Amino acid sequence: MSATPCIICVAITGSLPTKDNNPAVPITIAEQIESTQESFEAGASIAHCHVRDDEGKPTSDPERFARLKEGIEKHCPGMIVQLSTGGRSGAGKARGGMLPLRPDMASLSVGSNNFPTRVYENPPDLVDWLASEMLAYDIKPEIEAFDLSHIIQAAAMQKDGRLKGPLYVQFVMGVKNAMPADERILDFYIETLQRFAPDAQWCAAGIGSAQIVVNEWAIAKGGHTRTGMEDNVRLDRDTLAPSNAALVKRAAVLCEKYDRPVATWQQARNMLGLHHATGR
Ligand SMILES: [Zn+2]
Repeated sequence: MSATPCIICVAITGSLPTKDNNPAVPITIAEQIESTQESFEAGASIAHCHVRDDEGKPTSDPERFARLKEGIEKHCPGMIVQLSTGGRSGAGKARGGMLPLRPDMASLSVGSNNFPTRVYENPPDLVDWLASEMLAYDIKPEIEAFDLSHIIQAAAMQKDGRLKGPLYVQFVMGVKNAMPADERILDFYIETLQRFAPDAQWCAAGIGSAQIVVNEWAIAKGGHTRTGMEDNVRLDRDTLAPSNAALVKRAAVLCEKYDRPVATWQQARNMLGLHHATGR
């Protein structure tokens, strides 16, 4: 039996990186679509998307999300579109204003923690509202686990029906003031998820120089993985990443090292239980 294909998610832009950090960070919708297409061709099957306003600042503007989603669906047919409901781009319910667009997936944080310069605030009533919108629009959440309690909370929400299973959980490691990129912690995360939500699948992402380290752990341990300029803009200490696709290729090389086929979009959709038709 061959190994489980590895889903590579590309987080193309995020809320923080700027052209000053790396000129290759895609900021405009046109740049984002082009960068996603290159990443799709390099093996990414999920595009994790944020949008920026005309000044390059993060926004949750549904109109911009709509244009980005449409462009990705047109230029990367079959690719899974995942829109961010993360807290940097908007406040309160504005964070979920794009959910009526019915993307395949949306990110969902189920608890709070510290970020490098602020509190990442996810109060229970807002989390419940975002989860209920995702249920209503048939959107598969990707649970962003920045802390152990987020794994437990996601499992509890599946159990009482606020989230539809099976869960897909992203372990985010290496965020300053949150959890470090630490292999034994990752092992405990995986074990805990399997104990509390046995049917769940998982993915892992590392921030900054931890990106490639966490990519390798995730691939070696049979999980899925995330890369892209949202999390890291460098190939190494001295070299800027020339593109999102270059970061995807780096993850694909690791898949080869561990005999994990890179998941096609069809395989990724099957594993995640998503519709095959695009632009549903
Ligand atoms: Zn994000």
